[in-house]
Amino acid sequence: MTKPINSLLIVLILVFVSSAGCKKGSDESIINLFSVDDDIAFGEAMEEEIAANPQDFPILDPVAYPEAYQHLNRIRDSILGTGLIHYEDRFEWKVQIIQNDSMLNAFATPGGFLYFYTGIIKYLDNEAQFAGVMGHEMAHSDLRHSTNTLTKVYGVQILLSILLGQSPGQLTEIIASLAYGLGTLAFSRDHEYKADEYSVKYLYQTSYDARGIADFFIKLEDAPRPPEFLSTHPSPENRIEKINEVWQSLGGKEGNLYVDSYMQFKASLP
Ligand SMILES: [Zn+2]
Repeated sequence: MTKPINSLLIVLILVFVSSAGCKKGSDESIINLFSVDDDIAFGEAMEEEIAANPQDFPILDPVAYPEAYQHLNRIRDSILGTGLIHYEDRFEWKVQIIQNDSMLNAFATPGGFLYFYTGIIKYLDNEAQFAGVMGHEMAHSDLRHSTNTLTKVYGVQILLSILLGQSPGQLTEIIASLAYGLGTLAFSRDHEYKADEYSVKYLYQTSYDARGIADFFIKLEDAPRPPEFLSTHPSPENRIEKINEVWQSLGGKEGNLYVDSYMQFKASLP
């Protein structure tokens, strides 16, 4: 348990050292103390952390399940192909499947590392819904919501005092929240609205029905238990209506659901 903390500590210190000064994030009103390279370094560190912890994150082997990953990457590529992703070339956009049928969740780290539990893949009914969720997660990475949140949660003063060695307890707290709260750093309501909005905008440029993310939320309303997704992606008010408004404002074009190919994707999972 101490080894991963140490490696993250080193990364975190490097991140802070390389982040002198304030930089604007993609959302103009939000200061993001981290650079785009920091996002990438964070994502890579988290990927290592996840790979080193197969008990909590049993990654489905891409060599053993090539077909599942082909479906996954094909859907990702259709979103990357829209030309709407800021960091299309700089971020990794590596998508991985975590084998846990009881987890109804997906998450994205900074730098474009995306994770989908088999639970959410099996729960959904068509590819448009899945692409909607993927677009939402890609938007969180591409709009740099995690590092915006870290800057906001911990504040410039605290980050500076950590840098100056005046607040070692806070550093431990941040590391703990990163190392053990992977995927649980809850986004703000504004981030959720933005990620929904961009999911619709991305999918609108593809042949998918752009309301896939709304369909997912409609489906969640009938979920038998509170899905994990809503603990890390708090559901703001009128979310479905807002998604429909974005879709209408783009022209209200109906797209495809792709039920058959999605059934093949699900069938390729263990
Ligand atoms: Zn979200």
